Amino acid sequence: MIAPGETIGILGGGQLGRMIAMAAAQLGYRCHIYAPEADSVAAEVSAAFTCADWHDREAMAAFAGNCAVVTYEFENVPVEPLGMISPVPVLPHPRALETAQDRLAEKLFVSELGGTPAPFAAVDSDADLKAAIERIGAPGILKTRRDGYDGKGQWRIGSLDEASAVDLPSTPLVYEGFVSFFAEFSVILCRGHDGDIRYWDSAENVHQDGILSRSTIPASAAVLAQVGDARALAAKVAEALDYVGVLTLEFFATESGPVFNEMAPRVHNSGHWTIEGAVTSQFENHVRAICGLPLGDTALAAREVEMRNLIGDQAHGWPSILADPANHLHLYGKAEARPGRKMGHVTRLVL
Ligand code: AMP
Repeated sequence: MIAPGETIGILGGGQLGRMIAMAAAQLGYRCHIYAPEADSVAAEVSAAFTCADWHDREAMAAFAGNCAVVTYEFENVPVEPLGMISPVPVLPHPRALETAQDRLAEKLFVSELGGTPAPFAAVDSDADLKAAIERIGAPGILKTRRDGYDGKGQWRIGSLDEASAVDLPSTPLVYEGFVSFFAEFSVILCRGHDGDIRYWDSAENVHQDGILSRSTIPASAAVLAQVGDARALAAKVAEALDYVGVLTLEFFATESGPVFNEMAPRVHNSGHWTIEGAVTSQFENHVRAICGLPLGDTALAAREVEMRNLIGDQAHGWPSILADPANHLHLYGKAEARPGRKMGHVTRLVL
């Protein structure tokens, strides 16, 4: 067990790290952020900050020397330099990162566990893309295997003709058939050192331009009917990875059941509602899990909860958001409200 007062290392300096650090502080832990960008909103609320490249082995080793355990808030952290952190534990285990970093590896892994992803094919050339579209059909989405997030690194392809006009990047890609879904939802669980698994209620998620816009609890009855199967798959993923911490799987709800979209080996935007809407938040339970503490209750703390992201200049509306007492406003302290940038979120409870 890692006792309160010790230091938790967090790889990545964004808002997820900020909210993990705030939950850690409540339990008496100190946090040390490691990130390559100097303007870290996580570092602003943490005890220590190392601003260094992911591949700076000396900086990584010195950082580890100050930590009792290391976790991550960003799934594109390169795995190889994490060897420098040993013997300090990295949780969840970096094998979860390795799996989730590559869309192809992730889909194969989940398929082997009995999950159903959208039909997919690896694409490394124009000929591969043509063959993939002939087999899977169009429309579909071409995605970079690595480094994509919030809809970045994705191209909608309407037809074989459209595909021939695409100037393929030189990175490995995956082509996915377009899923006809009636809703999207996520399963967020936390697994402790002892294998204890807790689930939060599944939120129904609405995306705009590939970015999460809104999460609503409870999900509709049609979605709730699919949550059992989706949770069973998420538990298999967690067990296969001997996972410790919060794990998220995103699904499309379709007429033929839940279709796996992607997994995130970390706390997730569609779980921000748990700060006020659940007895224990995803951030607190993640800290509890990686420190070997007993997990907290994940039950709902309200009848209905809605979380809305504040993207770009939407955050400028904060005075009127604050004026409504049902709203809980979270601003991440980012200086520049660029289009598509997550600046904050607001959670609304119906008690
Ligand atoms: P992703 O980054 O892969 O989660 O994609 C972001 C969003 O794009 C998803 O949440 C969906 O709204 C949409 N999307 C991605 N892949 C597909 C697909 N194969 N079929 C339909 N919609 C998709």
